[in-house]
Amino acid sequence: MRSEQEKYCHSCGEVIHINAEICPKCGVRQPMPEAPRSASATDERWLATLLLCVFLGYLGIHRFYTGNTVTGIVQLLTLGGCGIWALIDLILIVTNSFTDGNGKVIHS
Ligand SMILES: [Zn+2]
Repeated sequence: MRSEQEKYCHSCGEVIHINAEICPKCGVRQPMPEAPRSASATDERWLATLLLCVFLGYLGIHRFYTGNTVTGIVQLLTLGGCGIWALIDLILIVTNSFTDGNGKVIHS
């Protein structure tokens, strides 16, 4: 029976102590509800990048915003590759495949 001092392992489902950080059975670290948001949390730039691409994608503004300055200038000069490039970028953003100037993926 599960008591107040027990929880289920995040990985294997074994009943473990409520304060256990690592499951004794499978060795998987347990997620802590009060833990600070990790690097895998939603990128706060994602929504802004998406909106910039939707409304100003033909000006490459979303690329300037995300640090892709060089391609942003090219996009600005070509009006978003006649809209096609901006559309491709929009798809990349929606599918969490768009990267910033440092090669870091901007994901939702
Ligand atoms: Zn386990």
